[in-house]
Amino acid sequence: MDLITFQDIVFKEEKAKIFFLKYRWKTRRKICPRCEHVGVVRIRRERLLCPGCRYEFGDFTGSHLGLLRIGFREWLWLLKLFELEVSARKAARELGLSYPTVLKGFQVIRLAIVAQNRDYPLLTGEVEADEAYFGGRRKGKRGRGAAGKVPVFGILERAGKVRVEVVPNVKAETLLGLAVKKVRRGSIVYTDKYQSYDSLMFCGFRHLKIDHSQRFASGKVYINGLEGFWSYAKERLIKFHGVSKEKFPFYLKELEFRYNRRKDQNLFLTLAEYLVTSVAKLL
Ligand SMILES: [Zn+2]
Repeated sequence: MDLITFQDIVFKEEKAKIFFLKYRWKTRRKICPRCEHVGVVRIRRERLLCPGCRYEFGDFTGSHLGLLRIGFREWLWLLKLFELEVSARKAARELGLSYPTVLKGFQVIRLAIVAQNRDYPLLTGEVEADEAYFGGRRKGKRGRGAAGKVPVFGILERAGKVRVEVVPNVKAETLLGLAVKKVRRGSIVYTDKYQSYDSLMFCGFRHLKIDHSQRFASGKVYINGLEGFWSYAKERLIKFHGVSKEKFPFYLKELEFRYNRRKDQNLFLTLAEYLVTSVAKLL
């Protein structure tokens, strides 16, 4: 959404609310956030009632947007600045909101991204798999198993999407377990020569290994797609300096989402829809 259109919806609180409401009840089948009964009824202007469990609730109860009590115009601005990758500190200054409020708002957007992207189709065809390490001190041991660093496992479908996940370790059973869950059997999986991948062929995949010691990637045997994502993610994470270990998986999912939608002109609308249609588990 360009700024001119944005200006129009952010002009009045009522308009901003209508914008979100339009997405909220898009399917027209209003569902109870407590018992998932379909067909709740509106009893007053802003209140709904579930005939199933008698729960009375507001339009945004149970959605991610409902997790933070700020105005609808403030929500629109938060989304816009998040879309534009403005830092939380800067956003707080620009919006006249407290820094913790903006931090929470941004985190709620990430939670909505995670909730919305939980179930995705298996990757298939030609797939690259690789691990990378994030955070920690630069000093000391580097590379695989480096102290204080968080290992992340990534899979990328060539000409498709990337999926990344924080892993407890890079042992064979961990990585293979994830590959089995995320990639369709029979796919071709490209990896480097790391031994954890050695059993891929026994899990029903065709496995091709890259030899990094050779100067040039031979034919199709490369993992450049994933390496592209790692540098994309690392470059952006510098901006979030000092992300805690607990929050890191959410930042990582944000980057996965941004990378997969880097050609999407309507990131703002996608995020707005996520905020009101995904079910927040923190009721
Ligand atoms: Zn109910």
